[in-house]
Formats: sequence, structure tokens, C-alpha cells
Amino acid sequence: MKLRLHFVVDPMGWLCISVVFGIWLYNTFFVPKLVLLPHYEEGHIPWALVVCYYLASALCVMALFRASTADPGRLPVDPHIPHSEREQWELCNKCNLMRPKRSHHCSRCGHCVRRMDHHCPWINNCVGEDNHWLFLQLCFYTQVLSLFTLVLDFCQYYYFQPLTRLDQFTTRHELALLRVSALTGVVMFGGMSSLFYAQMAGVLSFSLCCLYCEYGTKRSWQWALAEVCGTRWKLLWLLPLRSRQPLHTGHHYRSHV
Ligand SMILES: [Zn+2]
Ligand SMILES: [Zn+2]
Repeated sequence: MKLRLHFVVDPMGWLCISVVFGIWLYNTFFVPKLVLLPHYEEGHIPWALVVCYYLASALCVMALFRASTADPGRLPVDPHIPHSEREQWELCNKCNLMRPKRSHHCSRCGHCVRRMDHHCPWINNCVGEDNHWLFLQLCFYTQVLSLFTLVLDFCQYYYFQPLTRLDQFTTRHELALLRVSALTGVVMFGGMSSLFYAQMAGVLSFSLCCLYCEYGTKRSWQWALAEVCGTRWKLLWLLPLRSRQPLHTGHHYRSHV
């Protein structure tokens, strides 16, 4: 597996991604410290719950790292244009390079990106053909982690048994720290849920529409997602640490129509 890193020089983007990373760091530190570990030590919750929280947290930060550092689909200076597609390519009047249909020029990044969706300041990167699947993963894992955090904050007050061994720091600051955690949980869960469902609806309707135009038959949602993720193995759709290979669906696909 070869993962090439891609960095965008944009101070505003660095600030935005630092806020996202800060929220992740805050909850990954304080939720186990205030809720999970003390309750586990007193035998109120199983170890599996602690492991699940750390797993969700690790997947979330991995997806953030990969989405922000993966090449979104930057076009090379001298691209190889297939003969059959020659008429569909056009010249970008900003960077003077040839680009295929559905590519756009990003003024923040200063180059054209294949199948560009948008430039996201929160990951300080463009979302394009090669990292769209990572962006979807990030939205998904952020929802999981923020919902997990909210449930634990809620249980701390209304469900778990009271803790008997509390240190001075926890006793004094617990309420304020958990309120901040719950607030970030609500903001992240609300924002990411709406973004995720808008993204999924966009990916599915656009891919299905394009495929319909191209092949004249309707395609399933699994097919559209496999195309975005670059693999038909559904388990790999959830794995951030892998490289994406575009599916060469044309001929293979036609033979199955
Ligand atoms: Zn351009
Ligand atoms: Zn960009």
C-alpha cells in the first residue's frame, strides 16, 4: 500500500482543521477520564465498551488524517488523454491544463481536481474523485463518535451508578467538562448527520443518473458506492488505511448487462 501525502497551504484551513482535531482530542481524553475508566474500575461497565469508544475514536482520527492528506484527484501537467475521450476534455483557463468532464478548478488549492465535489476548509482539502470515499467515512465515523459521546454523557447523569472514588479534579470540574463534551457532541452530530445524508443522496443520485445515461439501465446503490470507494468489497468501504484504485467498470460491466 502506497499512500502519497498531499498538503494544502492555507492558514484558514489549518485553523479550521485544528478546531476539528481539538474537539476530537478533547472528547477522546475527557470522556474516558471522567466516565468510562472510573466506571470500568468500579465494575459498572464491561471493558468492551471502553475498547469500542477508543476504536470509534481511532477510526475517526484516521479518516480525518486520510481525508485531509489524500490527493483529491489533482490532474497531472501532461495527462494521458484516451483517444475515445478526446472530445470530452477541455482546457482550464486558470491553470492552462487539459481536464476531463466534471473536473473543476479550485482557487484555494490552485489546481484542477477530477470530479470535484467541493473544497472543505474543515479538512483543509478538496473533496474529489480520489478522496470522496474518505470524506464519507469521516462524516460517518464522526457521527458514530459524537453519538457515542452524547449517550455516555447522558448515562453519566441519568443511568450509571454514582462513583464512590472521585479525585478532587473530577469532583470540582466534572459538570463543566461534560457540558462542553455534550455541546460538541450535539454540534458535531447535527452537522455531520445532515452533511452525510446530503452527500450520500448526491453520490447515489448523480452516479445512478450518469450510469443510467451511459448504460441505459438502472444501477443499484451498492454499485454506485463501489464506484466511489474503488472496491466491491463492502468491508473495505469502512477502512481508511488503504489506497483507492478506480474501478475499470466499462467493459467488465457491459458484459454483465
Ligand atoms: Zn485549473
Ligand atoms: Zn481545493
